[in-house]
Amino acid sequence: MKNIISDRAGLIDASGIRKVFALAAKMKDPVNFSIGQPDFDVPDSIKAAAVEAINSGCNSYSQTAGDAELLDRLKQKVAADTTIENPEVLVTSGVSGSLLLLFMAIINPGDEVIMADPYFVIYKHVIRMMGGKCVFVDSYPDFKLPVEGIEAAITDRTKLIILNSPANPTGAVYSEEHVKQIAEVARKHDVLVMSDEIYDTFCYDGKCPSIADHYEKTILLKGFSKAYAMTGWRMAYAAGGAAVKDILEQMTKIQQYTFVCAPAPFQKAAITALDVDMSDYVDDYRRKRDMIYDGLSGKFEVVKPGGAFYTFVKAPESAKNATEFVEKAIANNVLIIPGNVFSERDSHFRISYATTDDKIKRGIEILNDIAS
Ligand code: PMP
Repeated sequence: MKNIISDRAGLIDASGIRKVFALAAKMKDPVNFSIGQPDFDVPDSIKAAAVEAINSGCNSYSQTAGDAELLDRLKQKVAADTTIENPEVLVTSGVSGSLLLLFMAIINPGDEVIMADPYFVIYKHVIRMMGGKCVFVDSYPDFKLPVEGIEAAITDRTKLIILNSPANPTGAVYSEEHVKQIAEVARKHDVLVMSDEIYDTFCYDGKCPSIADHYEKTILLKGFSKAYAMTGWRMAYAAGGAAVKDILEQMTKIQQYTFVCAPAPFQKAAITALDVDMSDYVDDYRRKRDMIYDGLSGKFEVVKPGGAFYTFVKAPESAKNATEFVEKAIANNVLIIPGNVFSERDSHFRISYATTDDKIKRGIEILNDIAS
């Protein structure tokens, strides 16, 4: 079998995550702070819409770009929520689907993609599989958008700047001021921007500023997975204005030969989802955010997250690095993820507080106990 696996596949290193899950398999009723999805279920009206779509025979392929009614609603939504006029939209199988299509559409071997470190893990691996080079710009210790570092990292080979706000794994929400500054930098150097806004529903201290409002060469990625707890339904979309129309067309062409379309019945259910108010869920997660921040900030160095359901905490001095602290936490029945899964550093760990209040309380107690 030695030669059967592609060099491309060999570029992905899943060992960090595998190690964590191997340790996790031995845990009994753990405090599981590792989960990347909400702990509530899909609201009933959306489930009913999915069942109705299946029962009424909506089980075939949709158009490549998406169900006509859903596309229409999404175009209206993007036009209402952003400054993009007459937006183009492509419905994809999750934001992960959009990412693959976008990277396939624009990255040639040797092209560079700039992103803040820490970063969402899929970016790094898929860009490398395309032969692209990730250029990481350190955003420690406050995880604000590193505008100057990003400008300094731009070269003739830069194809794309990635923004992810609210961010995974830090929970950072980028300020309007910083987002505008990056728009200016991107315009000056004529570089495309991708804005992954999958967590925009979970933004706790006001609306999440979007670069799409300030820069026309932005590919906007939005998802249903996190907002409605439907991670298994694989629903998302990519959008943009006239300046990125050709890129969205290339992505659609590639979708035709890969995913074909997003799951048809769930596209129908997504239409219903667009009218469901999630603000009570978001209020609950804001409270959980405060709980975890207040509970840990006495003993740990932690930046208050503005969104998503993660916080990225510095491992205490007592540990050699974050991996060592994570092993200690797991030995004490708390499952957290070492920061080097999302970063070139091994100094922090990620907590997902998308769990019950009881588990959050227990987790805080244990982590504080083992900190010193
Ligand atoms: N972007 C970010 C920042 C994420 O955290 C995730 C999921 N963990 C995704 C994209 C992909 O989500 P999905 O494919 O379910 O839409």
